[in-house]
Amino acid sequence: KRNVLIIGAGGVAQVVAHKCAQNNDVLGDLHIASRTLSKCEAIIQTVHEKAAMKVPGPFHAYTLDATNIEAVKTLIRQTGAQIVINVGSPFVNMTVLDACIDAGAAYIDTAIHEDPTKICETPPWYGNYEWKKREACKAAGVTAVLGVGFDPGVVNAFARYAVDACMDEVHSIDIVDINAGNHGKYFSTNFDPEINFREFTGTVYSWQKGAWQENKMFEVMREDDLPVVGKQKSYMSGHDEVHSLSNRYPNADVRFWMGFGDHYINVFTVLQNLGLLSEQPVTTAEGLEVVPLKLVKAVLPDPSSLAPNYTGKTCIGDFVKGTKDGQPVEVFVYNISDHKDAYNEVGSQGISYTAGVPPVAAAMLIAEGTWDVGHMANVEDLDARPFLGLLNKIGLPTRIKDAAGDRALDL
Ligand code: NDP
Repeated sequence: KRNVLIIGAGGVAQVVAHKCAQNNDVLGDLHIASRTLSKCEAIIQTVHEKAAMKVPGPFHAYTLDATNIEAVKTLIRQTGAQIVINVGSPFVNMTVLDACIDAGAAYIDTAIHEDPTKICETPPWYGNYEWKKREACKAAGVTAVLGVGFDPGVVNAFARYAVDACMDEVHSIDIVDINAGNHGKYFSTNFDPEINFREFTGTVYSWQKGAWQENKMFEVMREDDLPVVGKQKSYMSGHDEVHSLSNRYPNADVRFWMGFGDHYINVFTVLQNLGLLSEQPVTTAEGLEVVPLKLVKAVLPDPSSLAPNYTGKTCIGDFVKGTKDGQPVEVFVYNISDHKDAYNEVGSQGISYTAGVPPVAAAMLIAEGTWDVGHMANVEDLDARPFLGLLNKIGLPTRIKDAAGDRALDL
C-alpha cells in the first residue's frame, strides 16, 4: 500500500508530516488535510525548509471537515491515498474510520474517539465506539490500527514484547509517563488543553483483580527512580490502553501513571474547583455566554508555541511483572526522548514527537505488508518486534532494564 493522507494539522500532525517525508520512498505521495488550509500549508513549508523529503515527490494540502464522511471519502479517492493517518481531534475518529472502511483505505489513529458533549469517556473505551466497527473492517478487509501514538501505542507494544519475550505469565503492567522537561511558562498543557484536561477531570479507572476499579484523580501516587530522569512521582490516571491491554491480559493488573509536578496539580486543582474546567456554558452579568473550558484554552499558551524553548527529557515506559519458569521476573521497557532534539529535527516539542513518530512507523509497516492485517487491531494484537525495531531506526529507540542490566533493545 502507498500514498498517505494525514488528517489534522496540529502538533502531532507536524511530526507525522516530517516523518512521512523522511520516509516517502516507502510511503509514496503525501497529502495533508485539516479544517484550516493555512495550517496544512505551513506544515508542508517546514518540511521543505528542513529538506525532509527523502526522495522528490508531491506533498499537497487540502481543506477538510473530517466530521463529514462523504467529504473524507471523496478526498481519499481524489488523492488515491491507501493509508490514512488520523491525527485530527479525537472527535473525528468515527467519521474518518467509516470513510476508510467505505473507501478501502487503511486507517491509523492515536487516541480513542470522544463525544464532544461528554465530560470524558468511561470504560470500556474502545468498546464505546471503535470496536463496534470491527466486523465492518473485517468484511471490507480494511486494516485499522487503533491508538498507535506513544501512550496508547508504543507502550502497548512494550507490554506485548515484555510478556512474549520475558515471561510465561504476566501479573501486572504499570505504564509510567514522565515528562521531566521544562517549557519555562507559568502553566501550560503539552497538547490541546481541552483534550488534556478531559483526561483528568473524571473518575480514574484501572483494571485490578480482574475488574474495573475507581479512584479519584491524584488519589493514588507512586514514586520511581527512573533512568535518566531520576526520582519522579506519578499519579494513577485513566487511559485508553488500560482497556485494550486488560482485554488481552485480563488476569493482569493494568494501571496507567502520569507524572505531574506539585505546581501543575495546584493550578489544575484551583481551575477545577472554580469550575473553570467545565464544558457547560455560563452566562455573565453582561449576558455573554461563555464555556469556561474554552476560555481557559484561549488564555493558555498554544502548546505548539512551547517547542522552541522546551528543554529536558521524557521517560515513558512499562513496568511489567510476571513469572518465568515459576520464578518472579520484572522488566522496565522504556524510551527516553529529548525536547530539544525533537525541535531541532522536526520543529516540535518532545510530547508531539513521541506521539507522531509511531503512527508513521505503523504506516510504513502497513505499506510493507508486515502490519497490513486486513482487520481492526490494537497495537498489542500485532507483532511488537518489527514495530519497535523500526522505531529504533526512525527516532524512538527502546531500552530495557531488568535483573541483567539496562541496555538498548536490539531487534
Ligand atoms: P491539535 O489540537 O494540535 O490538532 C488537532 C487538529 O485537528 C487541528 O489541526 C484541527 O484543525 C484538526 N481538526 C479538528 N477538528 C477537525 C475537523 N472536523 N475536520 C478536520 N480537521 C479537524 O492536536 P494534537 O496534534 O495535539 O493531537 C492530535 C491527536 O493526537 C489527538 O487525537 C490527540 O488525542 C492525539 N494524541 C495522542 C497521543 C499519544 O501518545 N497516543 C499524545 C498526544 C496526542 P484546525 O486547527 O484547523 O481547526
